[in-house]
Amino acid sequence: MEQIQKKAEQFAQDHIRPFAKATDEEVRFPVESFKQMGEEGYFKLMIPKELGGMGKGLEEHSVICREFAKESATAGLCYMMHNVALMTVLTYGSEDLKEEICKNIIENKVFMALAYSEFGTGTHFYKPEILAEYSGGKIKLNGIKSMVTSAEQAAYYLVLAPDETGVEGSINNLIIPADSNGVHFRMSAWNGLGMRGNVSAPMVFENTEIDSSYQIGPSGSGMEQVFNVVAPFFITGLASVYTGVLLKLSEESINHSINRVYPDGQALRDIETVQIHNAQIYSKAMAAKYMTQEAARSGANGEEDALAKILSARIFASEASIECARIAMRVGGGKAYNGAGSIERLLRDAYAGQIMAPSVDVLIVWLGKAVTGLQIP
Ligand SMILES: Cc1cc2nc3c(=O)[nH]c(=O)nc-3n(C[C@H](O)[C@H](O)[C@H](O)COP(=O)(O)OP(=O)(O)OC[C@H]3O[C@@H](n4cnc5c(N)ncnc54)[C@H](O)[C@@H]3O)c2cc1C
Repeated sequence: MEQIQKKAEQFAQDHIRPFAKATDEEVRFPVESFKQMGEEGYFKLMIPKELGGMGKGLEEHSVICREFAKESATAGLCYMMHNVALMTVLTYGSEDLKEEICKNIIENKVFMALAYSEFGTGTHFYKPEILAEYSGGKIKLNGIKSMVTSAEQAAYYLVLAPDETGVEGSINNLIIPADSNGVHFRMSAWNGLGMRGNVSAPMVFENTEIDSSYQIGPSGSGMEQVFNVVAPFFITGLASVYTGVLLKLSEESINHSINRVYPDGQALRDIETVQIHNAQIYSKAMAAKYMTQEAARSGANGEEDALAKILSARIFASEASIECARIAMRVGGGKAYNGAGSIERLLRDAYAGQIMAPSVDVLIVWLGKAVTGLQIP
């Protein structure tokens, strides 16, 4: 694991850091970073060895998302979504579907994304309202997904749709290849406060028809897939992304405290209040790191309390990153406020964490239920 972490850290410094500022300022997807991720095999991390991949799991997913997010939360987030969508195919997809997608990922270095949320049901993405008609071995889709990271960039989108019964909660995971008929993205609708390079644009389906072989698992099994695979990989992934944000905030705040020196020779780090600020940020970054690491370990081993640990890690990392960004902005003073360094970008990126579905508020309620043995959602 240490080797994977070191390699991902170096990769992020070499191939994500150089594009992070432009990604944010120009609201553009980090294409260069993703091209290099493909070259270096990061898209096949979860693909089993017998299918030509690296055969890794939740813990490696977590560490790599964290290391990527340290240099660009946007890049960490979009990479995370790929692993989540792919893992759903690998766990529940037919052999043919797995083979087709894995081959494309390995040979053409393409990646995947998640199109779950809708304008109507918002954070409650497991209640999709797009129209799905099932007939003659085909599935026809009409409707809009509201915020899809890696819009226009991913080769496949994991879409949640009602099954043919139309009963609430009876849902299917579908794979929509990017070149399917009637698919387009409303790119101009994205102007996020933070995570700006993830280009979370609406995805529109107009009589989009796919073969039913692109349905993952038996009809109606989407909810089970969401809770068994999507949730652990996505929620741990977000905990990891926001741990990366926290670690970077701590690094930036410490460096600024050392380097900002007054004319009398006193540095910010010599001031007790600044010492307290740095201590708070550092301790929260460490807490998030080890909570997330433990959550991923527990999830990978299928332990009974894994869900509670994963929810806790995601809630903690999301909330702590907002709080620590606020404090780091204070330490960073006028320079940070004027956009020098990355604290201001990290502050904006941090604010996305609390609203990405299921939102932190929803997860807090779920955690309260999980620890007392109640059914969620
Ligand atoms: C940067 C970014 C990237 C994203 N990427 C993707 C993506 O790749 N794919 C995708 O499908 N979606 C994505 N989304 C969408 C996201 O996951 C949410 O679905 C969306 O932001 C929800 O927005 P909403 O305003 O409709 O939420 P609403 O449903 O209106 O919720 C707003 C707030 O109301 C409160 N709330 C609502 N219901 C409850 C409840 N039951 N209990 C407690 N509190 C509640 C919470 O505070 C919540 O934050 C992304 C969003 C962002 C910001």
